[in-house]
Amino acid sequence: MNNIFNYTREKLEKEFVELGYKKFMSSQVLDWLYKKRNYNIDDYSNIKKENREFLKSQYSFDLIKIEKVEEDTDVKKFLFRLLDGQKIEAVLMYHGYGLSLCVSSQVGCNMGCKFCESGRLKKVRNLETYEMVEQVLLISDYVKGRIDSIVVMGIGEPFDNYDNVINFLSIINDDKLLAIGARHITVSTCGLVPKIKEYASFPLQVNLAISLHAPNDEIRKKIMPIANAYSINEVIDAVKYYSNKTNRRVAMEYILLDGINDSVKCANELADLLNGVNAYVNLIPYNETSHIEYKASSEHQIKVFFDTLKQRGVDVTTRRRFGSKISAACGQLRSKEI
Ligand code: SAH
Repeated sequence: MNNIFNYTREKLEKEFVELGYKKFMSSQVLDWLYKKRNYNIDDYSNIKKENREFLKSQYSFDLIKIEKVEEDTDVKKFLFRLLDGQKIEAVLMYHGYGLSLCVSSQVGCNMGCKFCESGRLKKVRNLETYEMVEQVLLISDYVKGRIDSIVVMGIGEPFDNYDNVINFLSIINDDKLLAIGARHITVSTCGLVPKIKEYASFPLQVNLAISLHAPNDEIRKKIMPIANAYSINEVIDAVKYYSNKTNRRVAMEYILLDGINDSVKCANELADLLNGVNAYVNLIPYNETSHIEYKASSEHQIKVFFDTLKQRGVDVTTRRRFGSKISAACGQLRSKEI
């Protein structure tokens, strides 16, 4: 049975009509789910009993479960148990301007980045659309608050689960469903070049972030196996193609790892690489994890790196640290549970 949260509005309307029901019933159902947040079909009093029976026979309304919550002042971390028992996590961050949620796109990840906790545990499977939608719904219900922005930066490589992620973006952006503004949605990829190009044609004004993490292939190959498949120049060309086509600026994520990619030479090389690219750099203080030998760069080194980029005219921000107390680095909670 197909889960009801896999459906965009258009797809559900079309399917109802094909099965001989009124298109309007889809607005009623979606209103119960996304506005009233009532997931129990028996309560859908404005829908005839026989139609409710049809819904039950045709669709699954099953929900994934919040199994554990870890809290800090400005962050909550959720461990979910999926219907087949697999675990994933999502992280809710309290920014000055609202709630931002980081969702997972796969159970595990096959990209194998050397610094990343999620990549230590191989991909078990892709998440289905409903499993991403329900992360948003259930967390919003849990905190009784509206989620303002979404980043697909949790466990998994979203472009290795492209179709389900795109379907998810359409659902959360729909005004009648979760109504999260496209400009408040960001997908982060380690650099799957063909998918970056495909994403350029996706009609919503959603954002792109690239996990660059190095200024050249030599360093990138040491920490990111995907660099063996696509060179850094191919990634940059794909970013140029994307920003020309969409007119949007791309975020270049750069984790600072002590002694690996944080020298002044690296900063200068990065500035050269990004010359003429419509992008800004988001420096990420590394969240150290017990299983991995890399160390975070010092505050001083981060500042020197930042200042070097600034002086070279590169737009640069440093990511605020959230929840280093509560194993908030990507994949840490799940890996602890497993
Ligand atoms: N696969 C996608 C999205 C998931 S990773 C991608 O690679 O972009 C989300 C971001 O968190 C990436 O930039 C990743 O490199 C970074 N990240 C992974 N482990 C981290 C850690 N321990 N500390 C800080 N950032 C980390």
